[in-house]
Amino acid sequence: MRRQYLALKKQFPDTILFFRLGDFYETFDGDAEIVAEVCDVVLTSRPVGASERVPLAGVPYHSVEPHIAKLVAAGYKVAIAEQQGNTPPPGEKLVERVVRRVVTAGTIVEANLLEEGRNNYLAAVAWDRARAAGQPLRAGLAYADITTGEFAATQLEGSDPATLNRRLSEEMARLQPVEVLVAAEKTARGGKETPVPPLALPIAAAVPVSRLPAWQFEEETARRALLELLGVENLEGFGCEHLPLAVRAAGALVQYLRETQREALPHLGGLRTYSTGEFMTLDEATRRNLELSQTIRSGSKKGSLLDVLDATRTPMGSRLLRRSLHQPLLDVGQLNARLDAVEAWHGDEGSRAGLRGLLRQVGDLERWANRAAQGIARPQDLVGIRQVLELVPALARVSEQERGGHASAAPHPLAGLPAFPDCGDVLDLLQAAIAEEPPATLASGGVIRRGYSAELDGIAVAARDAKEWVANLERSERERTGIKSLKVGFNKVFGYYVEVTSANSHLVPENYIRKQTLVGAERYITPELKEYESLILNAEERQQELEGEIYRQVMAQVGAAAPRLLQLSQALAELDIASTLAEVAAAQRYVRPELADDGLIEVVAGRHPVVELTQRETPFQANDVRLSPDECIVVLTGPNMSGKSTYLRQVALITLMAQIGSFVPAERAHIGLVDRIFTRIGAQDEIHAGQSTFMVEMVEAANILHHATQRSLIIFDELGRGTSTYDGLSIAWAVIEYIHNHPQLRAKTLFATHYHELTELAERLPHVVNYNVAVAEEGDTVVFLHRIAPGPADKSYGIHVAQMAGLPRPVVHRAEEILQELEKQGSVSPLGVEQGAEAIQLTLFGGPNPVGEALKQLDINALSPLEALNKLYELQQMARGGKKKRG
Ligand code: ATP
Repeated sequence: MRRQYLALKKQFPDTILFFRLGDFYETFDGDAEIVAEVCDVVLTSRPVGASERVPLAGVPYHSVEPHIAKLVAAGYKVAIAEQQGNTPPPGEKLVERVVRRVVTAGTIVEANLLEEGRNNYLAAVAWDRARAAGQPLRAGLAYADITTGEFAATQLEGSDPATLNRRLSEEMARLQPVEVLVAAEKTARGGKETPVPPLALPIAAAVPVSRLPAWQFEEETARRALLELLGVENLEGFGCEHLPLAVRAAGALVQYLRETQREALPHLGGLRTYSTGEFMTLDEATRRNLELSQTIRSGSKKGSLLDVLDATRTPMGSRLLRRSLHQPLLDVGQLNARLDAVEAWHGDEGSRAGLRGLLRQVGDLERWANRAAQGIARPQDLVGIRQVLELVPALARVSEQERGGHASAAPHPLAGLPAFPDCGDVLDLLQAAIAEEPPATLASGGVIRRGYSAELDGIAVAARDAKEWVANLERSERERTGIKSLKVGFNKVFGYYVEVTSANSHLVPENYIRKQTLVGAERYITPELKEYESLILNAEERQQELEGEIYRQVMAQVGAAAPRLLQLSQALAELDIASTLAEVAAAQRYVRPELADDGLIEVVAGRHPVVELTQRETPFQANDVRLSPDECIVVLTGPNMSGKSTYLRQVALITLMAQIGSFVPAERAHIGLVDRIFTRIGAQDEIHAGQSTFMVEMVEAANILHHATQRSLIIFDELGRGTSTYDGLSIAWAVIEYIHNHPQLRAKTLFATHYHELTELAERLPHVVNYNVAVAEEGDTVVFLHRIAPGPADKSYGIHVAQMAGLPRPVVHRAEEILQELEKQGSVSPLGVEQGAEAIQLTLFGGPNPVGEALKQLDINALSPLEALNKLYELQQMARGGKKKRG
């Protein structure tokens, strides 16, 4: 056994090998230590050979899932070796064992280890190791969710590694894969070492990276793997015949699935080749800043845009909504089709409620259908599919009614939505074959419905009759023999027997065969009794076997229909989303946005979809915005806490919502589609590895200036605040000028700032306008109106906010004094920055610098080393006393 174990372990060296031994999965050696630690199970040891013992840790087979989950979460892979049959092959002493599956983060299929409303993506990345002369650098990205069958690939290009890496990070940020595959950095071919790839993998450190042999990423191997999976001659039909990098990534991914899933190669719903150009680009910072699916502070969904919109009723709908939110569209036609569907459901509350009531009963058809296709569906999964199919006629009826009840001019409720494919045959099969409420596993029987298989029923009837016969035997034999104390019993050694006390043994009939003598009693069998016994015992075994066989047949038939079931699942997901967006629109008073490709964003009385819900004490103040090619840059000034950040995000969110086909929180909205949304928003929790807050700010700003286009929307929230006032102001000023003057740029830009000097830009640059947030002063107090108005703000009220926040009185008073003094100096335009800075710093901190003066007067030659040290100490004290000149 040890040898068998070691041989298997050698085949799967980088996994924890779960070795099936009877009712346990055992792990040995180093694996055992890890399992004991991670899964919190007892570490023991087991003798191998004569004198040696090896560490051992085991988990019961029936509760293995949570242990696998823990190991996978801790970054391990788990290989599961099962016994092959119950008897050893001829001439062998040991039952054979084979690895049936390797479980990794990206290949989990167990429903309870997966999050329902979120895809579990496994991604593979391939890139050119060297670029051909004059060619751009290329990378391929493929991803799959084996629980839903989604499988897609794209090819990205970049003129330099940084650009390519950025494009890759944007896709990674959207997908959030749970595991990433790359080629091992070196290949042994020809003995040469290939250079380390030019790309840094843009993923979070916690995401496991699996390095596959480089040859699996080679184009020919990869292509062959794909052709075989898809059953085609070439990849033309999948749109990637001429995208070698996409092919390499996708093919490597398929090979990895083959290796890890072994016999149950997952059903992948065909390969979809896409171009990132079809969608709005969102970089990671923007997804985070806009809190699309999780908040910055807690990282949870609560408080995100997704949280507001996700009133979906089905797991497929929930996953699709999350995906859509991270992948806004750029096509007016496509978006209007979605909006038509939303509008139709929006207009009919009754049908919508009916539809959503039905959808609530729809479970995870997508994952169940995939499990059937993979041959791993449990009885409940098939029951789940059946329940969905039973709902289909009603769902279709509601949709039809909706269509009928609509004026012909109104949008078609199912416009743009895929039709329901006919799955009646699958329903018939499941209704006929699977019991109403089958047990959880096949082990105990009763999964297959009576009447489905004559053979199975026959066995069941025979078994039942035989049991009945045995049950009646005691009574009939007592009558026949006249022995009142005769008993019929069962034990494991003799099976069924008849027991008669010794006192009555003379009454025993002829056909009784004595089997066992006890104290005071004898046990007998009869040929007939043995016949019934074997009927009963065989029937049970045969019944189980046959049930398993029939079950697998049914599952295979359902699996064969998986493409249709998945199409249905897709249709239901779309229906779910359309009705959900309609529901949210109705509840929150959203309106349908008007979409165009005209570069104009005009929102009347827009609101922030999240803040308007979370902040209940004061009513939300709606605000307008207008960004047009003529007035494309808005400089927004206003006091702290007045609502600048909220306003900026609100404009971005409304635009984004429109581009996923949702209604928007406003009275009216015209959205000229944008190709990207960029955000540069004040640093809160951004302690990036090795980069200062200011550095991060500048890197992000640089990224924006390099990549924005005329069709982009840029949000700058207090750019430049991470450095000294004058550096910050100068940078902010120059950035706005650049966006304004660069012929390719002139992107729609909202720029919130505390630098009042920036409001001067509106006078100098024709496409810049000033907005401010209105404030009402009532005596001593300031009331924030959160109302955006044209023109620059006149005062900052920062000190007022400091006071509201409870800064000590003396500090507030002193701040007011300093402010007055500063204001006497007058506003400083960036043209005279340096001079102004000196002037202010000097006045602020009390004229000449005492430390400097003291230093000047020092006669170093006259000092002993000790005196020098003392002097140094003194100077430091002076400096620490706040009398330092500049920081
Ligand atoms: P700072 O300059 O200090 O960063 P800010 O001007 O960006 O502040 P926000 O953070 O946007 O201000 O808003 C401050 C608070 O005001 C928010 O927490 C929000 O509750 C409230 N608020 C913002 N906008 C509105 C609005 N339009 N209507 C009602 N309340 C609002």
